[in-house]
Amino acid sequence: MERTCENGTLRAQDAGRTVTLVGWVAKRRNLGSLVFIDLRDRSGIVQLTFDETMAEKVKDVRNEYVLQVTGTVQKRKDANPNLATGEIEVLVNKVTIVNTSDVLPIDLSDDTTSSEDTRLKYRYLDLRRHSLQQNLILRHKVCMIARNNLDKKGFVEVETPILAKPTPEGARDYLVPSRIYNGHFWALPQSPQIYKQLLMIGGMEKYFQIARCFRDEDLRADRQPEFTQIDIEMSFGDEDTVFATVEDLMKDIFKGVKNYDLEDHFIRITWNECMRRFGSDKPDLRFGNEIQDITDLFNDTEFAVFKNTIENKGMIGAVKFENAADKYSRKALDKLQDFVKHGFKAKALAYLKMADGTLSGSIVKPLSDGEKAAVVERLGMKDNDLVLVIADKPRVVETSLGALRVRLAHELNIIPKENNYKFLWVTDFPMFEYSEEEQRWGAAHHPFTAPKEEDVDKLFTDPEHVSSRAYDLVCNGYELLSGSIRIHDQDLQEKVFEAIGMTKEKAQERFGFFLDAFKFGTPPHGGVGIGLERLTMILAGTDNIRDVVAFPTTNSSLDLMSEAPGTVDKEQLDVLGIEISARER
Ligand code: ASP
Repeated sequence: MERTCENGTLRAQDAGRTVTLVGWVAKRRNLGSLVFIDLRDRSGIVQLTFDETMAEKVKDVRNEYVLQVTGTVQKRKDANPNLATGEIEVLVNKVTIVNTSDVLPIDLSDDTTSSEDTRLKYRYLDLRRHSLQQNLILRHKVCMIARNNLDKKGFVEVETPILAKPTPEGARDYLVPSRIYNGHFWALPQSPQIYKQLLMIGGMEKYFQIARCFRDEDLRADRQPEFTQIDIEMSFGDEDTVFATVEDLMKDIFKGVKNYDLEDHFIRITWNECMRRFGSDKPDLRFGNEIQDITDLFNDTEFAVFKNTIENKGMIGAVKFENAADKYSRKALDKLQDFVKHGFKAKALAYLKMADGTLSGSIVKPLSDGEKAAVVERLGMKDNDLVLVIADKPRVVETSLGALRVRLAHELNIIPKENNYKFLWVTDFPMFEYSEEEQRWGAAHHPFTAPKEEDVDKLFTDPEHVSSRAYDLVCNGYELLSGSIRIHDQDLQEKVFEAIGMTKEKAQERFGFFLDAFKFGTPPHGGVGIGLERLTMILAGTDNIRDVVAFPTTNSSLDLMSEAPGTVDKEQLDVLGIEISARER
């Protein structure tokens, strides 16, 4: 269809031009004998004016009709400063009604009144909203920059199978039944992990893929059953090589999308230090309020709670919030106490407040003057400061105070939000994590991650204290990627399987082909999987993953638009050799 330009691009200097435009009717107003229509296309909105002679032709036109118009751009008498095209309008002299539309079941305005469920049901209409379109365009830009950046560095994009063997990323697999081999199943890949390592064994040296991953998990706000990773793997490098590749890529993406200059190198913090200082492995570094270990101030304390804690090898930790004392009433502090008791298993939360140079709070009575003075000095407490204190097992103290640190930062509004990106690498993650449910140690990342060389001899004797060469890149409290340097030695790989309780037979059955491949000159290698949705969310400034996915599911894994997952005919199941024993929905 003929069109001379896009609606949102017209400006004052276009006045006098004859243009042909296409688009959807966003709004119509009648003013006496004149009709005004806002015509929307992907680029934006422009106001059309129909004089008396033309008004008749659009008398039946309603919202979301598709029009093609020709007219002259002219300056408006009253400019609309809220619209990019607000200085001009198009005086229409020819109009074609290309298509009509029913009244929409959802409200398309920016501050839409429609519920998210209704919008998801009519996702193809919701996609007409400017903000959603901008997010998809942003996502596209990120992919374009990633492809160009990695291509320039010699990375080759290789597609790997979607119908695959299970990959152990720690989630449940989506299974696909085989028709030809009844009773056999493919698993949709939780990530291309095994394939990308095989590509390294296959001599590709530098691989990437914008890869779809599938994990059958109970969803949280920032998860979808299928998601996309910018998946990268490279041979003959180490952490420095991988980090440099990712840092350069991130710099290009933030420059290209946000015109924002990231620093050349991101800081690196080990997992242990991260937990100690921030109580989280994905700390938000846009604000301070670090956890302080004040256990040593109470070595000789008479206060029974603290004394017991120290005797039981516990920790007394504190976090200070400046200028916050007057904002937290007794009731508000009780709420915080409930939050750490229920969410983080802390036994209690104590607090101290400073006003006019005097301390008040739940532990002023039991502490000696000397102890109080020591706390004030160690934390540099000033008037109106609030200090939250927890005495418990070290991990409980750290995670509770870490969560309070984030919660209060939001409540107190101390996070500088606009264009502020604080990246860090978290390194040396624990190799194993204990599953209470299964009563055994499992891989904390995935079982192909290399242990730190100096910890290899602890694999069986002290698994809790084996660190790995796994790392995460964190930005503003979000985990942007995970990755690791991999095991490239068959013996070590077998030992790690054994350490997580996988028998030789089981390992052979599940990953035999993979283990065999290790016999044939496997190069040292490592890589990352960057969460594309997470990255786009940060760039778009949204914390709803559905804002950056064209056709998302609900939190309960339903596609409300197509009503997937759906049932299938008995004949279809028969050829697959499947019988349904119970149907929940
Ligand atoms: N496959 C890993 C993941 O999905 C990423 C990696 O180790 O490269 O987390």
